[in-house]
Amino acid sequence: MSRLLVATTNAGKLSELRGLLAPLGFELLGLAEVDAIPEAPENGATFAENARSKALHYARASGLDTLADDSGLEVSALQGAPGVRSARFAGEHAQDSDNNRLLLERLRGETDRRARFVCALCLVENGRPSLEADGVCQGTLLEQARGDGGFGYDPLFVPDDAPPPARSFAELTREEKQSLSHRGRALAVLRATLSARGANAP
Ligand code: IMP
Repeated sequence: MSRLLVATTNAGKLSELRGLLAPLGFELLGLAEVDAIPEAPENGATFAENARSKALHYARASGLDTLADDSGLEVSALQGAPGVRSARFAGEHAQDSDNNRLLLERLRGETDRRARFVCALCLVENGRPSLEADGVCQGTLLEQARGDGGFGYDPLFVPDDAPPPARSFAELTREEKQSLSHRGRALAVLRATLSARGANAP
Protein backbone atom coordinates (compact mmCIF):
# COMPACT_ATOMS: atom_id res chain seq x y z
CA MET A 1 0.00 0.00 0.00
CA SER A 2 1.37 3.49 -0.86
CA ARG A 3 0.37 6.18 1.59
CA LEU A 4 -1.05 9.31 -0.02
CA LEU A 5 -1.99 12.55 1.70
CA VAL A 6 -5.06 14.27 0.22
CA ALA A 7 -4.89 18.05 0.66
CA THR A 8 -8.41 18.40 2.02
CA THR A 9 -10.28 18.62 5.30
CA ASN A 10 -13.53 17.77 3.48
CA ALA A 11 -14.59 14.29 4.68
CA GLY A 12 -16.93 13.83 1.70
CA LYS A 13 -14.17 14.47 -0.83
CA LEU A 14 -11.83 12.11 1.06
CA SER A 15 -14.28 9.22 1.19
CA GLU A 16 -15.08 9.68 -2.53
CA LEU A 17 -11.35 9.48 -3.32
CA ARG A 18 -10.79 6.49 -1.02
CA GLY A 19 -13.43 4.54 -2.93
CA LEU A 20 -11.70 5.28 -6.22
CA LEU A 21 -8.04 4.90 -5.28
CA ALA A 22 -7.98 2.17 -2.58
CA PRO A 23 -8.45 -0.56 -5.24
CA LEU A 24 -5.24 0.73 -6.89
CA GLY A 25 -3.23 0.16 -3.70
CA PHE A 26 -3.33 3.63 -2.14
CA GLU A 27 -3.97 4.26 1.55
CA LEU A 28 -5.40 7.78 1.71
CA LEU A 29 -4.97 10.19 4.63
CA GLY A 30 -6.74 13.53 5.01
CA LEU A 31 -5.21 16.67 6.53
CA ALA A 32 -7.11 15.89 9.75
CA GLU A 33 -5.07 12.68 10.10
CA VAL A 34 -1.57 14.23 10.01
CA ASP A 35 0.15 16.83 12.23
CA ALA A 36 -1.30 20.31 11.67
CA ILE A 37 0.12 22.07 8.57
CA PRO A 38 -0.39 25.82 7.97
CA GLU A 39 -2.93 26.38 5.18
CA ALA A 40 -1.51 26.60 1.65
CA PRO A 41 -1.75 30.02 -0.03
CA GLU A 42 -4.21 29.91 -2.95
CA ASN A 43 -3.27 32.82 -5.18
CA GLY A 44 -2.53 31.23 -8.57
CA ALA A 45 -4.05 32.54 -11.80
CA THR A 46 -5.31 29.10 -12.89
CA PHE A 47 -6.86 26.01 -11.28
CA ALA A 48 -3.85 23.93 -12.36
CA GLU A 49 -1.42 26.37 -10.73
CA ASN A 50 -3.37 26.30 -7.48
CA ALA A 51 -3.62 22.49 -7.44
CA ARG A 52 0.15 22.22 -8.05
CA SER A 53 1.14 24.75 -5.38
CA LYS A 54 -1.23 23.15 -2.86
CA ALA A 55 0.11 19.64 -3.53
CA LEU A 56 3.74 20.82 -3.27
CA HIS A 57 3.04 22.78 -0.07
CA TYR A 58 1.47 19.82 1.77
CA ALA A 59 3.96 17.30 0.38
CA ARG A 60 6.90 19.37 1.61
CA ALA A 61 5.35 19.91 5.03
CA SER A 62 4.34 16.27 5.57
CA GLY A 63 7.06 14.38 3.70
CA LEU A 64 4.25 12.33 2.10
CA ASP A 65 3.19 11.92 -1.52
CA THR A 66 0.21 14.28 -1.88
CA LEU A 67 -2.83 14.76 -4.09
CA ALA A 68 -4.50 18.20 -4.31
CA ASP A 69 -7.39 19.59 -6.31
CA ASP A 70 -8.68 23.02 -7.16
CA SER A 71 -12.02 23.75 -8.79
CA GLY A 72 -14.56 26.45 -9.54
CA LEU A 73 -17.18 27.89 -11.86
CA GLU A 74 -16.53 29.88 -15.05
CA VAL A 75 -19.47 31.92 -16.37
CA SER A 76 -19.49 32.99 -20.05
CA ALA A 77 -21.37 36.29 -19.55
CA LEU A 78 -18.91 37.21 -16.76
CA GLN A 79 -15.85 36.50 -18.93
CA GLY A 80 -14.93 33.41 -16.90
CA ALA A 81 -15.57 34.85 -13.41
CA PRO A 82 -15.76 33.82 -10.61
CA GLY A 83 -13.15 31.22 -11.74
CA VAL A 84 -10.34 30.67 -9.23
CA ARG A 85 -12.18 33.07 -6.89
CA SER A 86 -15.33 30.88 -6.78
CA ALA A 87 -15.17 30.21 -3.03
CA ARG A 88 -14.54 33.91 -2.29
CA PHE A 89 -16.79 35.49 -4.96
CA ALA A 90 -18.86 37.48 -2.44
CA GLY A 91 -15.92 38.17 -0.10
CA GLU A 92 -13.11 36.48 1.81
CA HIS A 93 -15.34 34.48 4.22
CA ALA A 94 -18.40 34.25 1.99
CA GLN A 95 -20.95 31.46 2.53
CA ASP A 96 -22.29 29.47 -0.45
CA SER A 97 -25.60 31.35 -0.11
CA ASP A 98 -23.80 34.74 -0.42
CA ASN A 99 -21.94 33.59 -3.54
CA ASN A 100 -25.13 32.24 -5.12
CA ARG A 101 -27.02 35.46 -4.38
CA LEU A 102 -24.28 37.58 -5.95
CA LEU A 103 -24.12 35.34 -9.01
CA LEU A 104 -27.89 35.66 -9.59
CA GLU A 105 -27.63 39.42 -9.12
CA ARG A 106 -24.80 39.73 -11.68
CA LEU A 107 -26.78 37.66 -14.19
CA ARG A 108 -30.13 39.43 -13.74
CA GLY A 109 -31.64 40.00 -17.22
CA GLU A 110 -28.75 38.14 -18.89
CA THR A 111 -29.85 35.69 -21.59
CA ASP A 112 -26.47 33.98 -22.00
CA ARG A 113 -26.62 31.53 -19.05
CA ARG A 114 -23.76 29.27 -20.19
CA ALA A 115 -21.21 28.21 -17.54
CA ARG A 116 -18.78 25.44 -16.82
CA PHE A 117 -17.24 23.83 -13.77
CA VAL A 118 -13.52 23.06 -13.96
CA CYS A 119 -11.41 20.82 -11.72
CA ALA A 120 -7.62 20.45 -11.76
CA LEU A 121 -5.81 17.66 -9.88
CA CYS A 122 -2.11 17.38 -9.13
CA LEU A 123 -0.23 14.45 -7.64
CA VAL A 124 3.19 15.08 -6.10
CA GLU A 125 5.37 12.00 -5.67
CA ASN A 126 8.90 12.04 -4.26
CA GLY A 127 8.66 15.82 -3.93
CA ARG A 128 7.76 16.51 -7.59
CA PRO A 129 4.54 16.89 -9.57
CA SER A 130 4.21 13.49 -11.30
CA LEU A 131 0.68 13.56 -12.68
CA GLU A 132 -1.83 16.28 -13.54
CA ALA A 133 -5.39 15.84 -14.76
CA ASP A 134 -8.36 18.06 -15.33
CA GLY A 135 -12.09 17.75 -15.94
CA VAL A 136 -14.77 20.09 -17.25
CA CYS A 137 -18.57 20.00 -16.98
CA GLN A 138 -20.59 22.33 -19.25
CA GLY A 139 -24.03 23.57 -18.32
CA THR A 140 -26.38 26.51 -17.86
CA LEU A 141 -27.34 28.63 -14.87
CA LEU A 142 -30.88 28.83 -13.54
CA GLU A 143 -32.64 32.05 -12.52
CA GLN A 144 -33.38 30.62 -9.07
CA ALA A 145 -31.94 27.87 -6.90
CA ARG A 146 -33.34 24.32 -7.21
CA GLY A 147 -32.61 21.24 -5.06
CA ASP A 148 -31.13 20.51 -1.63
CA GLY A 149 -28.12 18.28 -2.39
CA GLY A 150 -24.46 19.05 -3.02
CA PHE A 151 -22.74 22.28 -2.09
CA GLY A 152 -21.54 25.59 -3.54
CA TYR A 153 -23.19 26.61 -6.80
CA ASP A 154 -24.91 23.21 -7.27
CA PRO A 155 -28.52 24.50 -6.93
CA LEU A 156 -27.98 26.99 -9.79
CA PHE A 157 -26.16 24.72 -12.28
CA VAL A 158 -27.87 22.40 -14.77
CA PRO A 159 -25.30 20.16 -16.52
CA ASP A 160 -25.76 19.65 -20.28
CA ASP A 161 -25.01 15.91 -20.10
CA ALA A 162 -27.50 14.68 -17.49
CA PRO A 163 -30.37 12.59 -18.88
CA PRO A 164 -33.72 14.48 -19.08
CA PRO A 165 -35.62 15.96 -17.31
CA ALA A 166 -33.17 18.85 -16.80
CA ARG A 167 -32.04 18.87 -13.15
CA SER A 168 -29.58 21.01 -11.23
CA PHE A 169 -26.48 19.39 -9.66
CA ALA A 170 -28.32 19.78 -6.33
CA GLU A 171 -31.17 17.59 -7.63
CA LEU A 172 -28.91 14.71 -8.76
CA THR A 173 -27.86 11.84 -6.51
CA ARG A 174 -24.21 11.86 -5.42
CA GLU A 175 -23.48 9.03 -7.87
CA GLU A 176 -25.20 10.82 -10.77
CA LYS A 177 -23.25 14.00 -10.08
CA GLN A 178 -19.96 12.10 -9.74
CA SER A 179 -20.50 10.36 -13.10
CA LEU A 180 -20.53 13.63 -15.06
CA SER A 181 -19.04 16.32 -12.83
CA HIS A 182 -15.78 18.15 -13.47
CA ARG A 183 -14.28 16.42 -10.39
CA GLY A 184 -15.55 12.99 -11.40
CA ARG A 185 -14.06 13.44 -14.87
CA ALA A 186 -10.67 14.63 -13.59
CA LEU A 187 -10.58 11.69 -11.16
CA ALA A 188 -11.43 9.24 -13.92
CA VAL A 189 -8.39 10.48 -15.90
CA LEU A 190 -6.16 10.25 -12.80
CA ARG A 191 -7.42 6.79 -11.97
CA ALA A 192 -6.96 5.51 -15.54
CA THR A 193 -3.38 6.84 -15.67
CA LEU A 194 -2.51 5.31 -12.28
CA SER A 195 -4.13 2.07 -13.23
CA ALA A 196 -2.19 1.89 -16.54
CA ARG A 197 1.02 2.66 -14.66
CA GLY A 198 0.30 -0.23 -12.27
CA ALA A 199 -0.38 -2.53 -15.20
CA ASN A 200 2.89 -1.50 -16.91
CA ALA A 201 5.02 -1.83 -13.77
CA PRO A 202 7.74 -4.47 -14.05
P1 IMP B 1 -12.54 23.91 -3.92
O1 IMP B 1 -11.70 23.63 -5.10
O2 IMP B 1 -13.12 22.65 -3.32
O3 IMP B 1 -11.87 24.83 -2.94
O4 IMP B 1 -13.84 24.70 -4.46
C1 IMP B 1 -13.81 26.05 -4.83
C2 IMP B 1 -15.21 26.60 -4.93
O5 IMP B 1 -15.73 26.32 -6.23
C3 IMP B 1 -16.22 26.00 -3.96
O6 IMP B 1 -16.23 26.71 -2.76
C4 IMP B 1 -17.52 26.19 -4.71
O7 IMP B 1 -17.98 27.51 -4.57
C5 IMP B 1 -17.09 26.00 -6.16
N1 IMP B 1 -17.24 24.59 -6.57
C6 IMP B 1 -16.25 23.73 -6.89
N2 IMP B 1 -16.76 22.52 -7.22
C7 IMP B 1 -18.10 22.64 -7.09
C8 IMP B 1 -19.17 21.71 -7.27
O8 IMP B 1 -19.01 20.53 -7.60
N3 IMP B 1 -20.40 22.20 -7.05
C9 IMP B 1 -20.65 23.49 -6.67
N4 IMP B 1 -19.69 24.37 -6.45
C10 IMP B 1 -18.41 23.95 -6.67
